[in-house]
Formats: sequence, structure tokens, C-alpha cells
Amino acid sequence: MILKIEKGQDNPILRQKAKKVKEIIPDIKQLILDMIETIKSNSNNIGLAAPQIGYSLRIIAVKTLPDESILVLINPEIKKKSFRKEILKEGCLSLPNFFAPVKRSKEITIQGLNPEGQLIKIKTKGLLSRILQHEINHLDGVLICDKV
Ligand SMILES: [Zn+2]
Repeated sequence: MILKIEKGQDNPILRQKAKKVKEIIPDIKQLILDMIETIKSNSNNIGLAAPQIGYSLRIIAVKTLPDESILVLINPEIKKKSFRKEILKEGCLSLPNFFAPVKRSKEITIQGLNPEGQLIKIKTKGLLSRILQHEINHLDGVLICDKV
């Protein structure tokens, strides 16, 4: 099911700190499938955090580049951030027509659970690293308009 995107910089669901997923129960698995379907529904969608579709839970889904498969991480955590940063213009599905330059680490190491509950750790740079940092910000109630 394609889910409706929560919008607005004062939207309470987008501003609260999302809760950790304690157990990957069937409802969570269904939510993940819906997140994947929602991302795939629009070629402009490259990442989605659960609060953006109304669930205050620590789950993110991002389109990996260039093969466009979807990476899902539950309870993601950034373990390492490069000292080197880069400024690039970003947009957000929750803030239509708003674009801003955002400074982020070029490279990060991130870990989290995949939908099967296995711990995975990924070292990434470039656009994927940026998208992951953007989506993790959503889990802490941070939007790009705060980073300008
Ligand atoms: Zn966003």
C-alpha cells in the first residue's frame, strides 16, 4: 500500500524522537513493505523514514544507487563519521518546494538490522551516505530546514 507522506516543518510526528523497534513482528514487516512500495511509487523518492508516513519508529528505507534496490535498516546507528564534510543542496518529501544546502560528512559507517533481524554494517560515501544521514535525522525529529 502506498502511504501518504506527512508534511510540514511543524508537523508533530516529524518532530518527535522515534522509538526503537523492539521486535520485528508481522505489523513491522508489513510497514516495511509499504515503505518500499511508497518509495518505488515515485522516481523522485530516494529515501523514507517511518515518521514520514506517520509511524514514530526507527526504520529507514533508501534507494541504493545505481541499481535502485531498496536498503532497509531498523534501529540504524551511525558508528563512524568522516571528518571531511561536503555541502550539497537537498530536498525532502516532507517539505515540498524547499531546497537548502546541507553540510554532511562525506563518509559514514552505519549499522542496523535488516528486515530479517540480522545485524548489518555498511561503510558508504557519496550520495548514499548523504541520504542515510538525512533519513536518520528524521528519526530524531530533525529536518533540513533546521540545518541551514
Ligand atoms: Zn526528508
